[in-house]
Amino acid sequence: MVFYASPSLRVATAPITDGPLDMGNLTATLRIGIKEALLGIGFPTRALRRFDQSIILFYHAIGEGGVPAKSFEKQLCYLQRHFEMIFASEVDTPSPSGRLRVAITFDDGLKNTKDVALPILQKLGIKATLFALPGNVRWLWTAEMRERLEAAMADETIIDAMPPLRDARDIDRVIEDMKTMSHDALVAAIARIRNATSFEPSPAWRSKHELMNAEELRALPTDLIEIGAHTLTHPILPHVEDDWLEREIVDSKHQLEAVLQRQVTTLSYPNGGFDQRCLEIASRHYDYAFTTETAIGDFDDQQVLKGHKHAINRLHGVDHQAEMPLRMLRFLTNGHGFSAQPTAGAAVTAGPDQEETPGYEIPAVMQK
Ligand SMILES: [Zn+2]
Repeated sequence: MVFYASPSLRVATAPITDGPLDMGNLTATLRIGIKEALLGIGFPTRALRRFDQSIILFYHAIGEGGVPAKSFEKQLCYLQRHFEMIFASEVDTPSPSGRLRVAITFDDGLKNTKDVALPILQKLGIKATLFALPGNVRWLWTAEMRERLEAAMADETIIDAMPPLRDARDIDRVIEDMKTMSHDALVAAIARIRNATSFEPSPAWRSKHELMNAEELRALPTDLIEIGAHTLTHPILPHVEDDWLEREIVDSKHQLEAVLQRQVTTLSYPNGGFDQRCLEIASRHYDYAFTTETAIGDFDDQQVLKGHKHAINRLHGVDHQAEMPLRMLRFLTNGHGFSAQPTAGAAVTAGPDQEETPGYEIPAVMQK
């Protein structure tokens, strides 16, 4: 069917993106404007300050291909002005001020964190926790597989031998499918894709995806950067067999401690994914373990996880500073903030962006 929209309608509906509630650029711009106006009158900030809890934000790359560096700096300035900044290991420490406590965390230990985020943290004097692999993996398998499959898509001789790859979404599907494989099946799949494709990462790709090595991890300033573990090889833990699971969770701590010559007390589950076995192992070896609001895994009883020190939920860092306070408020009102005691009230009504963030209504700790 051909549909001839009037120019004004076209502005209101295009571009169409994949989110069912995304009404396009115009609406997004209006939303940002509304949020900036609310921020201007102090609406979410006053409500946020009343939470005597901790909220943990997590980021990956800052700058090129990630959260814009300027926006990241603005977010930090806002957080520092209004809340108490803590390390992830201080999530349970009572605050003398009774104010909301905020921990900034980075997953993976990208060189990008050292090169782009750290100078901003140093400039502002804000501390952060980095969840790293022990320094002997050059980049994550997901990044390498994506790069290989993208290169393969451009090569007809290879593409015939691969799963149907027509566009970027097919590559996403292959990667997501690989994340659900058992450890052995994943190792085999990675080997098959490596054999069938070529891989010549450009300097730009390397600077975006390379992880810090042991020496670089050791050189990070300890007053500002706390280091936690993020497993040995970044597998999706619920799909890992028992014997390998213990190694991923425990050996990564011991190897990091050998590299850093200090204790490692926190763990972040790759892609947030964990199961009962992970909870048990993490509880024996770490003070705290962190998941994400969009975790991969399988966990039936959400109530068990409330206030659990080894299933602490984290909120994904946003691209635009004006988005952050309302998203933090939504996260906290939905009970995802951390306090060791059961949360007592902190009765705050939901913000006006209710219809925009339907995902927060679902207990998101363990969605498939
Ligand atoms: Zn990760």
